Amino acid sequence: MDLSQIYTELILEHSQNTLNKRHLDHATCTERGHNPSCGDDIELELKFNGDIIEEAAFTGNGCAISQASTSMMIDIITGKSKEEALKLIETFIGMIKREITDENELEMLEDAMALKNISNMPARVKCAVLAWHTLKEAINKNK
Ligand code: ZN
Repeated sequence: MDLSQIYTELILEHSQNTLNKRHLDHATCTERGHNPSCGDDIELELKFNGDIIEEAAFTGNGCAISQASTSMMIDIITGKSKEEALKLIETFIGMIKREITDENELEMLEDAMALKNISNMPARVKCAVLAWHTLKEAINKNK
């Protein structure tokens, strides 16, 4: 199995992951993300405990890329501080814009590295970054 096949499977697996797609019982913050060019519409729910993102989940609809990207993001930001999450967001967006290509630096993105090749598909870039922009908004409003 080559790397792009593994990536495709990861995206598929995450787009069907229902563990992260739910309502949080005690969300402290809800932020909507909308990508009209594709129709992706998500609502990110977060539970902050001081500086830490204790829990995260989402609801909403969209294409496989946007759903997978949101689920991957939730996996890696849960338990992280706001500052760490902002660094992850910056790195993910840097990867999609091809401004960060160093594999060692991208490793912190874990499964979300599977979305690297989206940078070759301009029409899907907005789908991939939607959740990350939404999280950034939420963190900036709750500093
Ligand atoms: Zn989309």
